[in-house]
Amino acid sequence: MAEATGTCPQCGAPVKLDIGDPLLKCDFCRTSLYMIPPAGIFNYLLKPAASAAPRNRVFHLPYWRFRGFKFRVHADRQTECSLVDATVQAFGTLPRMPLLGLAPELGSITLNPEPPPGLSLLQKPHKALEIANARIEALLKGRPVMQGIMAENKSIIQTPFELMEETPGRTALRPLWEPDAVSIPLDKKHLKLLDNFLKPDAGNRRIRFLPLICPECGNDLPAFPRATALLCRFCNRIWGLGSSRLFPRRFSIAAESIEPDTTFLPFWHIGIHLKNFPVQDRYSFFKTMFPYKQTPDKWKNQLIPMVIPAFKINPRLFFRLASRMTRSAIELPNGPAETAREIPALHVVNFTLEEATHSVRILLYELFRQRKYLIESLPDISIGLRKSQLVLLPFRKQGREFIELHSGQAVPTAAIELGTRL
Ligand SMILES: [Zn+2]
Ligand SMILES: [Zn+2]
Repeated sequence: MAEATGTCPQCGAPVKLDIGDPLLKCDFCRTSLYMIPPAGIFNYLLKPAASAAPRNRVFHLPYWRFRGFKFRVHADRQTECSLVDATVQAFGTLPRMPLLGLAPELGSITLNPEPPPGLSLLQKPHKALEIANARIEALLKGRPVMQGIMAENKSIIQTPFELMEETPGRTALRPLWEPDAVSIPLDKKHLKLLDNFLKPDAGNRRIRFLPLICPECGNDLPAFPRATALLCRFCNRIWGLGSSRLFPRRFSIAAESIEPDTTFLPFWHIGIHLKNFPVQDRYSFFKTMFPYKQTPDKWKNQLIPMVIPAFKINPRLFFRLASRMTRSAIELPNGPAETAREIPALHVVNFTLEEATHSVRILLYELFRQRKYLIESLPDISIGLRKSQLVLLPFRKQGREFIELHSGQAVPTAAIELGTRL
């Protein structure tokens, strides 16, 4: 795993960081801070491996770095999944830029508290992710029905370059992060683009640090790496980690009684409306899945409910869990942002509502795989998110698995563990 170093803003001690993780934990002054980077993008500086010639101009150019799950859904066999760690040039206008691997032989990486240069001109992350995905897809065999990269963690790695004159009048860009890298010849147009890109953006703030303290009761919140919501064990509130502050998250606990050995896994309970899809409401949704089951009349005209993991897990298990929980149709009343009940253990919330909504189309494919007439309309549907809350579903550990108490669905603990490290 690629690691970076940073500096504790409280005591100045050096701290170790995981690339893309907003958590800063200082062992010296025992502070836990949640970092909010400028424009929501963490950027890191890669140390040069070669030195520049004196008088040559030296600067950094950015690469997007994505770590996530590559998945490929097939009509006739299991979904393929693998971990990806990919980098894509984030300054999109220069030809023949070298690929940046994240091999351990790369130099050390430090967190940059300043915004990266060219922030407004950066290649958009979803475009860069498409490029990374297309590169991987081109190397794979077969034609999946749906494919992509999900649960990704993104950040910017800034890599050092020098501008040098190869022969009089011929300028070239030389990567300093690879000792024997080939230099890239630049013409006048490229030089102008480069100049424009490297101009500092006005008015950008530095990274901000939020103490991980419950806004309600003032106690320390647990410092889970890469979390997007945290439970206060003292006042039993869940706080979302926003782009500027902690905010209360509504949640519902799907358990009548809570045993001390219960572990709750967080899910998004969403209500959606589908356009251009024959299935329109909760009634027809369940009637189509289970034609022989009794479907309550009052479900007519209700939103389609879906239950989607709010934690990162490999896509095969992700869609298996989402379809199982959505099919099980447990009643999940809307909850407040606090509870008087003791929650013995809650797994980290690290898969956002936005990401969950993006997964709906694939989930519909999984649910209606056998119904060709529905599958065919999937590319044209539009998905409207109308309602959402977190629900905590009770699991019990049995051997190397967590078993969901309503449905009996098992999840390997190793898979849950892996998802916390993206
Ligand atoms: Zn410190
Ligand atoms: Zn609290």
